[in-house]
Formats: sequence, structure tokens, C-alpha cells
Amino acid sequence: MSFPPSAPPLPDVSRVLCVFAHPDDVDFGSAGTVAAWVDAGIEVSYLLVTRGDAGGFDDTPRHEMPLLREAEQRAAAAAVGVETVEFLEGYRDGSVTASLELRRDLVAAIRRHRPDRILTSSPLRRWDRIAGPSHPDHLATGEAVTCAVYPDARNPFAHPELAAAGLAAWTVREIWYSGGPDPDHAVDVTGVFDRKLAALRAHASQTSHLPDLEGMLRERLGALATAHGLPGRVCEAFTVIRTE
Ligand SMILES: [Zn+2]
Repeated sequence: MSFPPSAPPLPDVSRVLCVFAHPDDVDFGSAGTVAAWVDAGIEVSYLLVTRGDAGGFDDTPRHEMPLLREAEQRAAAAAVGVETVEFLEGYRDGSVTASLELRRDLVAAIRRHRPDRILTSSPLRRWDRIAGPSHPDHLATGEAVTCAVYPDARNPFAHPELAAAGLAAWTVREIWYSGGPDPDHAVDVTGVFDRKLAALRAHASQTSHLPDLEGMLRERLGALATAHGLPGRVCEAFTVIRTE
């Protein structure tokens, strides 16, 4: 199972909501693209399902990890010009499922932010890279976001407590999926690479143990660029799906 070929991105996007399971997910796959959107005048907001309480590589006391990772995500967002960073409550790192409760919480966020485009993780597993992109929390978040976009957020009768609270139905027109199989829409992030690197360095609890983060990124994003006909550049790649 894979995605169909990407649709051409919408030309008239003014708001984007990025929804990911853990702090750092948006930055590894997409921070360069986010920086380019911000530069283009698009209003970008982040919504994190968990605070990444199961992450880390050192002896930081476990009870400190959620607040540490929240602060890291806010700093990483600032590095690419994103000011709005929100976290859902009640979801634990490693325990995310595409539940009705998560769909409801995502619909509430969608109806508040009213984004034209959502960027999220792929609900489709990459069998060639189980570690990283295919973390079950990523797959569950991508699935729950997709269900929240269609049908929930646009259906005024779904999760009726939200309409009762004044959150009117909203139709998201496009989803960008990160980390899925065979992404075919490449974004050249050469000009904003330094800001992506700064965003990832802000996640010190996750990246400071890596001996050569910049080299690893240049190699990975450079290979993506070459695969998409842009040798010598660095790219991030996605699948773009119209959801109108
Ligand atoms: Zn993650």
C-alpha cells in the first residue's frame, strides 16, 4: 500500500497547522519547508500530541523530560519563525492511538486554527525504515489527523460538544504527509538549511549525542535532492493529498 502521486500544492494557502506526535518530529522531516512557508508569509502553527516523555539519551530525571522537551520544541519553532506551539493534554509518548478522543481533540484544534493545509506524519508504514518514520505514535497521529480532516472537522454533527462550544465546522483542503513511503514532492531547502539545523540543535536532549548532526542531515537531504533531480542541493520530501 502506498500513496497516489502528489497533487500540485494549493497556490492560495494562508494558514498551516503542523500536527506531530513528539517534539522534534516536525524538525527532522520538515523544518526547512516550514521556514520557507514562514518566509512566504504563511502563518504556521505547531500542535504536538505528546511532550515526548519517553525520549532522551542521558540520565535526565524522567519527570523533567516533558517540560524540557516542550521548551526545546518552542526554541526549535522560534528558529524557523513559528510562534504558536501547542500541546495536547492526556497523551503519553509511546501510547498514542488513533482514538475517537484524539480525533475530537484534533478537530477542536482544526476548528480553532482553521488551516488551509495540514502537515503531519504518514499513516502508512515505511517497511524499508522501521526505525524513525514508522514509530507507532507517528502512524497513529497521521491516521487520527486524516480522520479529523475527513469527515470529522467538516461535519457539524461530528463531536457535537465542539459545535456546542462554538467551534464551527471547517474543511481542510490539503494534507502534506512526512515520513511515508516514496514521497514524491520535493522542497528545496538549501537556502534555509542553517535554520533547520538550528531547530534540530534546539532539541539537545535528542540530538546532542549525535557526533555529526550537520553531516548526517546534509547526506540524507542531499540524497533526497539528487533523487528528485536537484544534485548539489538539499531537499525535504512529502506526499501532497487534496482533501477538499
Ligand atoms: Zn517522533
